[in-house]
This record gives sequence, C-alpha cells and structure tokens, in this order.
Amino acid sequence: MNFLEERILKDGLVKPGNVLKVDSFLNHQMDVGLMDMIGEEFYNRFKNENVTKVLTIEASGIAIACSVARVFDVPMVFAKKSKSINIDGEMYVAEVESFTHKNKNNVMVSKKFLSPEDRVLIVDDFLANGCALQGLISIVESAGATVAGLGIAIEKGFQIGGRVIRNLGYRLESLAIVDSMNDETGEIVFR
Ligand code: 5GP
Repeated sequence: MNFLEERILKDGLVKPGNVLKVDSFLNHQMDVGLMDMIGEEFYNRFKNENVTKVLTIEASGIAIACSVARVFDVPMVFAKKSKSINIDGEMYVAEVESFTHKNKNNVMVSKKFLSPEDRVLIVDDFLANGCALQGLISIVESAGATVAGLGIAIEKGFQIGGRVIRNLGYRLESLAIVDSMNDETGEIVFR
C-alpha cells in the first residue's frame, strides 16, 4: 500500500452516491507535505516524458498541479470554469460536466499559454467518469500540443473514466485506484 492509499484509509470518508470525501487532507483542508509527495511521485513516473507544462482544472486540481509543476520546474496552467459563452477567440474551450455538482461548465485556457511545442502533463485530484480529463485533453489537442501523460491522485476504478482514457491510448497513472467502496460499512478496497 502506498502513502496515498494509507492516508485514504485513515482519513477518507465514503459518502452515498459513490463520493469519496477527502476534504480533510486533499481538497479543502490540504496537507501540503502530502501534496509534495504526490508531486515527487508523478515526477518519478513521468520524468522521461519531456513535460513542458502541467495542466489541471480549477479548483481542486490546482494544489496538486502546483506540487507537480514545482518538481518538473515548468509552468502550471489551470483551466477556468465559466458558465458564460462569452468567448472572444482568445481561448481554447471545452464543455465539462461536473461529477460532484452535476452541472455543465465551459472550461477555458488562454491561447497564450499552450502552444504546439508543448508536451502537457494533465493532472487532477479525482477521476470518475472522465469528463474533466476529456475536456482537458480536447483543450491540449485544440492547441496542437501533445498530451505527455495524465496523472490522477484518486481514480474510482468502478466508474468508466479510467477505461475510456486508457482505451484512447493515453498514458494514465493513478496513485490510488479504488475498486470498490461501501458507504454503509465505510470499507474501501484498492486495486
Ligand atoms: P469526472 O469528470 O472524472 O467524472 O470527475 C472528476 C471531477 O469530479 C474531479 O475533478 C473531482 O473534483 C470530482 N470528483 C469526482 N468524484 C469525486 C469523489 O468521489 N470525491 C470528490 N471529492 N470529488 C470527486
């Protein structure tokens, strides 16, 4: 069991609706030492991929992405969410349905910050159905840049996102893959 799986067992809470709550250490209150460990671990896994940029989506991916970008010593960019479709041609845009909030947002990245030479490492805190990652992949591809890989802290392996992204041929690495969880007993089983 790795450091993140241990922490999930210690402090994660299983909620109804297939939601794993990790807000005491990952996405509300944050253990920044743990973030650093996540950054180092993604560096070890992707260090041969010539990463030039780290991309995530606001809000909860930002802290992880900062830790990753610091170790790679490259800029971090986060896609901004916006309900308006006031797009002036200066932005790459994708539509993303939120797993936790069940609404749709346009997410956008300024064309200034992605270029065809970029090799982009996409990171996020969770992978469920894969909408967030597919939106980020489409933004990278709109820029003519390359997806160097995808790094996820917690993948819920019983939802379809991981299979979809791997079947598309991308290199997806998840630090913890939850194969099942039970909101009545609190049990969490890792792959
Ligand atoms: P997806 O787009 O893959 O369906 O969902 C990914 C996004 O939904 C992540 O950015 C994350 O913020 C949120 N998310 C999905 N599942 C969970 C969960 O079980 N717990 C928490 N805290 N966030 C989740």
